[in-house]
Amino acid sequence: MGRAHGRETLQARAAAMRSAADFPALFVVDHDPNSLGLLLFDLSRWFGNDFIVRGEASSEAALAVLREMDDANEPVALLLVDDAASDFLASAHELHPAAKRVLLVDRDYTTTSPVVQAMTLGRADFHIVRPWADHEAVHNAMSEFLSAWTSEQEPNFEEFRIVAAEDDGRAVQLRDVMTRFSMPFGIYGVESDAGRRLLDEAGVDPTRLPVVIRYDGQVIIDPDLPDLARAIGVNVKSDVDTCEVAIVGAGPAGLTAAVYAASEGLETVVLERAVSGGQAGTSPLIRNYPGFPHGISGGILMERTCEQAWLMGAHIVFAQQAVALERSGGDRVVRLLDGTEVRAGAVVIATGVEWRRLGVPRLEALVGSGVFYGAAVSETRAMQDQDVFIVGAGNSAGQASLHLARHARTVTLLARGDTLAKSMSSYLVRAIESTPNVLVRQRTEVVDGAGDGTLNRITLADHHHDTIEEVPAAALFVMIGGEPHTEWLPEDIVHDPQGYLLTGRGLLEHPEVRWEQDREPLPLETSMPGVFAAGDVRQGSIKRVASGVGEGATVVRLVHDHLTERTRR
Ligand SMILES: Cc1cc2nc3c(=O)[nH]c(=O)nc-3n(C[C@H](O)[C@H](O)[C@H](O)COP(=O)(O)OP(=O)(O)OC[C@H]3O[C@@H](n4cnc5c(N)ncnc54)[C@H](O)[C@@H]3O)c2cc1C
Repeated sequence: MGRAHGRETLQARAAAMRSAADFPALFVVDHDPNSLGLLLFDLSRWFGNDFIVRGEASSEAALAVLREMDDANEPVALLLVDDAASDFLASAHELHPAAKRVLLVDRDYTTTSPVVQAMTLGRADFHIVRPWADHEAVHNAMSEFLSAWTSEQEPNFEEFRIVAAEDDGRAVQLRDVMTRFSMPFGIYGVESDAGRRLLDEAGVDPTRLPVVIRYDGQVIIDPDLPDLARAIGVNVKSDVDTCEVAIVGAGPAGLTAAVYAASEGLETVVLERAVSGGQAGTSPLIRNYPGFPHGISGGILMERTCEQAWLMGAHIVFAQQAVALERSGGDRVVRLLDGTEVRAGAVVIATGVEWRRLGVPRLEALVGSGVFYGAAVSETRAMQDQDVFIVGAGNSAGQASLHLARHARTVTLLARGDTLAKSMSSYLVRAIESTPNVLVRQRTEVVDGAGDGTLNRITLADHHHDTIEEVPAAALFVMIGGEPHTEWLPEDIVHDPQGYLLTGRGLLEHPEVRWEQDREPLPLETSMPGVFAAGDVRQGSIKRVASGVGEGATVVRLVHDHLTERTRR
């Protein structure tokens, strides 16, 4: 009796210590009370140490509780809702926008299943199909959903602290690099108490900003990309100067080529002018990459591929731009910006595409300070309750608008044409139409912009109504396509008028190509034998992550063929 009483007292004390505001909730709405009970039991068993598990059998009751929780500032991490209640998700999400929304659906693989529409329109983040026999699989799925929620929370541990002036555009660049390397970090204004304290502790003069302070006390003042890359712990110089294959560019095509080349035993060097991931690394959610039905963050996908290439034995070098490529006997030599070079038996060019520029000088001057080329993943959270604009009418612009709409007050898509349907997939057009805070202005161009250190307004020319109008704008994302990174290549690597590299048999018909081999060009081979192109940089390639990955894997087979032929000669 005494021991039982003691246990009760301990439980009561533990319950009292677990203030609901400290522990985020997993909230279940299941109209079947038996199923609700089982779910609550399983979730408590699996996650009860870190989360409060709550549930209701009706949407009305659930909404009332969620309102009370919102009033009491009690966070919700996960809303797990059965399909009959899926309409309720919208209201619940308004109250708890940070919560991940999981639809619990019955086994029905027709296109009329409510989950198909909910996922397409972005009304749910994940789904689970029931009944399930495998508890382990459900536990794993829930852990994945929770880890998606956790990754969006402020980090508990900051590996890097950045102290910068409020309007310093370089802080935005630092934030981008930290995000691309998945480094937990915090940014502190130099005028804030925390910022002043950090500078004091580091003994740094506040006139020399931005300052980056590593967890172990290392201080870097106004770092450039190589400084930062070194502090993060990645290579900025190749540790070999000769290899079998040098890959230029660490986007999906280059990194996949590295995974395959290194795993097949080739001495492989990857040279990347910035950080890994390429364009794909800036994409908040890639929904069409096979194997990820709920989509995957481009940054995470690329980080994993980079890790995989490294574990297979590839030498990966960041913050090192390739500036020239030359023949040297049978070898190819890649020259780098720091004056060093890498000699290789074969070279894969996977340098992708540079965003096309707006060409408005006052906006170009604000790049990184409110004007962004492409959708910067790291900026999304910072857009909370802001009015933001996107220039562009392609799929990237459509995806970015939906992603930003989760945080921004309004997102306005500015399109030059008179319909989105010509340039954007219909599923995205439908999703945009049903997202109330995404607005579309057709036949509208950005002609100017201004701001004091950071963008605060843009000027729009509306060709439909023939008006010029200045509107407040917290950010402008420019997504109007791009130009390939091929300006550094020699003339005998032939490209089309836009700069995309020509490859394969078609080269033989090109008037500028002098092909002197006693074989035809291999499928991804450029007009310089032994130099291949993969991904967006190649003329005719499909500008997608999966196709870049496919070409990256394919090109390694061709590199083998070239190297084998070379040794035979
Ligand atoms: C915002 C956004 C969203 C997107 N969403 C999707 C999507 O949902 N689904 C989809 O399938 N596709 C999507 N795409 C397209 C997709 O990201 C690209 O097709 C893909 O990244 C191309 O891969 P790549 O390896 O060919 O080139 P990139 O990803 O462009 O990588 C090229 C790399 O080469 C480096 N480089 C360039 N020049 C040099 C040099 N001289 N020396 C060294 N390194 C150099 C660059 O820094 C870059 O890291 C999206 C693109 C963007 C921008």
